[in-house]
Order: sequence, then C-alpha cells, then structure tokens
Amino acid sequence: MTTSTHAAPAPIPVRPHPAADHRPFITEAQTAAYTAALRAGVTRLTITGWEQQADGSLLQILPTGAALAYSPGTPLTALTPCAAGVRHPHPVATLADLRNAQADAAACTSAHRPPTRPEPTPAVRPLADAFPHGPGADTQPLDVTTLRADHAQEHSHG
Ligand SMILES: [Zn+2]
Repeated sequence: MTTSTHAAPAPIPVRPHPAADHRPFITEAQTAAYTAALRAGVTRLTITGWEQQADGSLLQILPTGAALAYSPGTPLTALTPCAAGVRHPHPVATLADLRNAQADAAACTSAHRPPTRPEPTPAVRPLADAFPHGPGADTQPLDVTTLRADHAQEHSHG
C-alpha cells in the first residue's frame, strides 16, 4: 500500500451567478397563459406577447383591438371594446366564445354613462340633521373687525 502525497486538485472555475435582476426569456405564467389560449383554440398568439399585470394576471392585445386576460385557475376572459370604448368582459373557453365576445361588443348600444351620485344613506341622514344648518339654523354673525382689534391688542403687550 502506498500513500499519495499529491496536492488536492485545483478547484474548477465557476461561471459567475447571473445578476439578481436577470429575467428569464419566458416565464412560467406566460407559458400557462399561452397553453390556456391554445386549449381554447386561440393559436395565433405568441408566448412573449402575454404581459404580466400588477394584479398577477396576464394580458395579450389581439390584432382586433380586444384583449385576452389570463389568471391562473380562471377561464380566459376576452375584453372586447364596444363603440363607446368600454371593454366588455366575456369568458372564453372556445374560439366561438371569442367570436361571440366580439359580436356582443359590436352589438352594444349602451352609452355607458357614469352612475348618478347616490343620495346619502339613511344611516348618515339623522347625524346630519342632528346639527343645525341652513338658513334657519341658530348661528351668530361674525364681526371680523372685532377679531382684528383683539388680535392687535394681544400683540401690543408682547
Ligand atoms: Zn358597451
């Protein structure tokens, strides 16, 4: 039996770790959205066309101006603009659903006016009535010249 006196081999050089802000070419979420679109028959989309949104969903703008939205665990949703420019949400499980979403938005005749300002809720109304207000309220007129004179007198002592 012989003993070796050789030194340990030199360590193999290691490639530096990628920067912390390194982003993959495609993400798992983009792949999932792309796969969901394929299952629905929407085949003309690109994986990298799915843009991550702040709420975690992904969005891809279609050539028609509509958008497809994907959230994990929910069906695809078409967001199709109508003549008023409002995007109508419509679940999309098949290519026919996407066509129907476009047809529904095209048939929209709503002006989409903003809702009118609601009346105060009954719970708030008694609180407002508890305090006097309006022309018949018990108030006193305020004489500003008296206040100014008082203020000038206070500062003349200092
Ligand atoms: Zn509409």
